[in-house]
Amino acid sequence: MSFMQPEIAHGKWIAAETTVGTEYIPQDVVGKLEALANVGDEINTDPPEHGDTIAKLRPYLEGDLQSAEVVEGFGARLSAPGYMDCTDWTVLVSREEAVEHLADTYDRCRTCLAEVNVADDWQCPKGCEQ
Ligand SMILES: [Zn+2]
Repeated sequence: MSFMQPEIAHGKWIAAETTVGTEYIPQDVVGKLEALANVGDEINTDPPEHGDTIAKLRPYLEGDLQSAEVVEGFGARLSAPGYMDCTDWTVLVSREEAVEHLADTYDRCRTCLAEVNVADDWQCPKGCEQ
């Protein structure tokens, strides 16, 4: 997993509550959705009045959609440049929290996000203090 690069992106996200938990999709990946255009817009699958929107989200989701909302924030994930390989996005309110999430989840340096040596007291290869 060491070739995976940390990635943080600010923007608008569709936060979808599904049967497998919260899933985040960058809003610009899905394209224009009238029912989910602005931050705070929400849809529910019951009653199913937004069938078109739900159908457009479905290919991006692992679980079955229950509700979705537009949020603004910092998405964090690991991805392999040049490959399709990447982790799921998690969206946080600040860049600091996004860095912390990557550091905690993927054993990364809190300063530079390089992969730390967990066996060697979390030493950063670039020498940052932990
Ligand atoms: Zn470091």
